[in-house]
Amino acid sequence: MSKPANTTSDFLDYASLLSPEEQSELKRIREYLATEIKPLAEKAWDASEFPKDLFKKLAPLGTAAGSYPEYSRVQVTPHSELLAGFIRIEMNKTDPSFAVAAGVHTGLAMGSVAGGGDEEQRQRWLPDMVDMSLIGAFGLTEPEGGSDVSGGMRTTATRDGDEWVLNGAKRWIGNATFADLVVVYARDTADDQVKAFVVEKGTEGFHAEKIQGKISLRTVENADLTLTNVRVPEKNRLQNINGFRDVAKILRDTRGDVAWQATGVAMRAYEVAREYATTRVQFGKPIGGFQMIQDLLVKMLSNVTAMLGMVIRLGQLAENKEDTSAQAALAKAFCTTRMRETVAWGRELFGGNGIVLEYEIAKLFADAEAIYSFEGSREMNTLIVGKNITGLSAFA
Ligand SMILES: Cc1cc2nc3c(=O)[nH]c(=O)nc-3n(C[C@H](O)[C@H](O)[C@H](O)COP(=O)(O)OP(=O)(O)OC[C@H]3O[C@@H](n4cnc5c(N)ncnc54)[C@H](O)[C@@H]3O)c2cc1C
Repeated sequence: MSKPANTTSDFLDYASLLSPEEQSELKRIREYLATEIKPLAEKAWDASEFPKDLFKKLAPLGTAAGSYPEYSRVQVTPHSELLAGFIRIEMNKTDPSFAVAAGVHTGLAMGSVAGGGDEEQRQRWLPDMVDMSLIGAFGLTEPEGGSDVSGGMRTTATRDGDEWVLNGAKRWIGNATFADLVVVYARDTADDQVKAFVVEKGTEGFHAEKIQGKISLRTVENADLTLTNVRVPEKNRLQNINGFRDVAKILRDTRGDVAWQATGVAMRAYEVAREYATTRVQFGKPIGGFQMIQDLLVKMLSNVTAMLGMVIRLGQLAENKEDTSAQAALAKAFCTTRMRETVAWGRELFGGNGIVLEYEIAKLFADAEAIYSFEGSREMNTLIVGKNITGLSAFA
């Protein structure tokens, strides 16, 4: 008799690197996601509608508290880089759109306040952001400036006494339609340096328009922003962001997060494809018994296993507080490329069923496209690594 099938997508058992306490915390999170969050995903994606109470449901997971324990009102055990990464995998296996909305809040918006704010600003905003009663967004990209936004930011900030006046436009800003605060990056007209401003909900001159008709991450509300003479007090300017170099430090961490995210998406694609291959019968036997289908599955599993190895090592380096800018760029470019290949193989394995929402692979296939392009496209992350290994910049 042959051995029962090995169903894991973590073939080399990387999760055993977590401590027993971390493993049980991950199990708690996995179970909560399966019962409270997963059932909302498909309908929300199909309708392209963000569930208004999603953050209330995500708060008990404690992901923000684990990442920023010193700003949590309840005592929590800090999440190691590895645990945070494995939680990111679980969230993306549950639904990439929900994971992205949460990531914009905890990674990009909270990361901006934590890394760019002074202690008074961190104390002012982070405790409410930790318990998700205050939701954040991150406004960097512009309609005319995506990859090159570092050098050519068009949104301006002009000092006027104790206030700043912001003018310009932003594009793709996740959560901005409902966020309580949006971190807006703008170029200071006096010294040409990029600075960051916390724009609070309801501020006059700030307008967010939901981008319609997306084919990827449909549940995430991305917005076109217009800023017309938006007045922000100096106390809302993040005091430690004084140029794009400071923004790049925030992006370094979130690019690593996207590599973990891509790994989660690819793992889920492999899991649903493996399961389908054992149940879909053609020519009188499960398609998983055909050599060419096994080849697809093994290529998918090989990608997933390589991705896991890379993000785990990246996490270990980040734990030691090393500068991992180039390594995070390499992981983002590599893992999102492998993810895109993996979901495509999964979709192929499902035949016609691979293009309908009823089978999860279709959603993963579509969501991979946005993940591949945001937080720096594959090309831009490749050029960051290229500069690191040659000492020569191909883009600036
Ligand atoms: C779903 C989604 C969510 C997002 N969320 C946010 C958010 O919350 N906040 C935010 O600020 N931004 C957000 N973004 C923006 C995202 O970061 C940008 O889309 C991304 O940086 C690419 O910029 P772009 O779309 O303007 O493409 P472009 O910069 O116009 O690039 C177009 C193509 O040209 C290539 N290219 C450009 N320059 C070069 C070069 N020098 N060499 C080779 N190729 C090059 C690119 O790789 C790409 O393939 C989001 C985007 C998406 C799709």
